[in-house]
Amino acid sequence: MKNLSSRTAGFTDSVIRRMTRISNQYGAVNLSQGFPDFEPPKEILDRLADVTKEDFHQYSITWGAQNFREALAEKQSRLMGFDINPDTEIVVTCGSTEAMMAAMMTVANPGDKVIVFSPFYENYGADTILSGAEPIYVPLYPPEFNFNADELEAAFRQNPKALILCNPSNPCGKVFTYDELKIIADLAEKYDTYVITDEVYEHIVYKPSEHIYFASLPGMRQRTISCSSLSKTYSVTGWRLGYVIAPAEITETVKKVHDFLTVGAAAPLQEAAVTGLKFGDDYYRQLADKYTHKRGLFLKGLDDLKISHTVPQGAYYVLLDISEFGYESDLEFCEKLASDVGIGAVPGSSFFKEDVNHLIRLHFAKKDETLNEALNRLEHFRAKMKLK
Ligand code: GLN
Repeated sequence: MKNLSSRTAGFTDSVIRRMTRISNQYGAVNLSQGFPDFEPPKEILDRLADVTKEDFHQYSITWGAQNFREALAEKQSRLMGFDINPDTEIVVTCGSTEAMMAAMMTVANPGDKVIVFSPFYENYGADTILSGAEPIYVPLYPPEFNFNADELEAAFRQNPKALILCNPSNPCGKVFTYDELKIIADLAEKYDTYVITDEVYEHIVYKPSEHIYFASLPGMRQRTISCSSLSKTYSVTGWRLGYVIAPAEITETVKKVHDFLTVGAAAPLQEAAVTGLKFGDDYYRQLADKYTHKRGLFLKGLDDLKISHTVPQGAYYVLLDISEFGYESDLEFCEKLASDVGIGAVPGSSFFKEDVNHLIRLHFAKKDETLNEALNRLEHFRAKMKLK
C-alpha cells in the first residue's frame, strides 16, 4: 500500500481528547478536556425541545442560519464596539475548531509562517500543519506569561502571514492587557500580518482583568479574523457551534472553505442557540461570577494541599507543578493519576514548544462537588506519597 498523506504524518491525535478517553476508561473525575458537567441554561434546552417539532431539520444556509447570524451580529456588535454585518461578515462553523482551521486555510499558503505563542492550545499546531504553514513559536514567560516585545518583533521580521492569538489564553489563563495587545497590533500593522484570534473564553474573565477584543483596537478590524464559539459561554461544547467574524473580503473566502469542509453547522442547534445569543448582560455577569467562585474553590483547595499552580486571569485552566511527585514524564504522571488516583489531567508538555515536563493542566468547569471530589483524591494521593 502507498503511504498515507505526508501532511498528516507529523502530528499525533489530540492529547487532550485522548486523556478524556483514558479518564472514561478508569471512571476518573475528568478534569482534562475542558467541558462542564453542569447543564446549559434551561431556556436554551426548552427551546431545543420545541425546535425538534418545527421545520429545522434540513440544511441551513451554509454560512449560518439567518436568525442565528442576526442574533450573533447584534450581540457581538454590542460587545466588540463596531457594527458587524450578519450577511457579509459572519460564518457559522462547527465549533471554533473549524473556525480556526477555516481561518488558517483562508490566509496561509504552504510554506507561509504563522506566529504562535507558547504555551498554546494544541489544535494550533495541527492547524498550521494541515494548512501547510510553519509555526514560529514565541515564548510566554511564567508566572505572568508575558512576552518579550523584542522576541516578538524578531518573529515578525521573519515575514509571517498571520499571528494566532488565544485570549483569554488556554492553557495559561493569561488575559492580554490593552498595552500588550497594542504592541501586537503595531507589529501586525508594521509587518502587514493577519491576526487570527481564538476568543472562546471571552466571557470567562476574573476581575480586575477585562477582555479586550483584538479587532476593536484602532486599525485592527481590517486584519483580524475573530474566531469564537458558543461552547464555553452557554455550556454546550457538544453542540459544536462556532463562528468567524471578519471583514467582508476575508469572510467571502472563509465561506468557501467552510462550504467545502462541512457545508454547515447543525440547523436545529443554531435555532435553539439563538435564545442564548439574545440573553441580556446579566447572563454574562452571572457566568463570570460562577467561574470566579469555582476558581476560588479550586485554587484554595490546591493551596491547602500546598501544590503550586498558576492563577488564571481568564478561562478555566490551572497548570500544576508536579515536580515534587518525582515523575520524569508528565504523560506517565497523568496516566497514573487517571488509573490510580482517579483524576483526568492533561500533560503540560502538549502545550509547550519548550521542553517542559513538570506541569499538568486541570480545569475547573465542573460542579463544586466534582471539584471537591478531585481535591479529596489529590489529598489522598499526596498523603500516600508522604509529601509534606
Ligand atoms: N478547549 C478544550 C480544552 O482545551 C477542548 C476543546 C476540544 O476538545 N475541542 O480542553
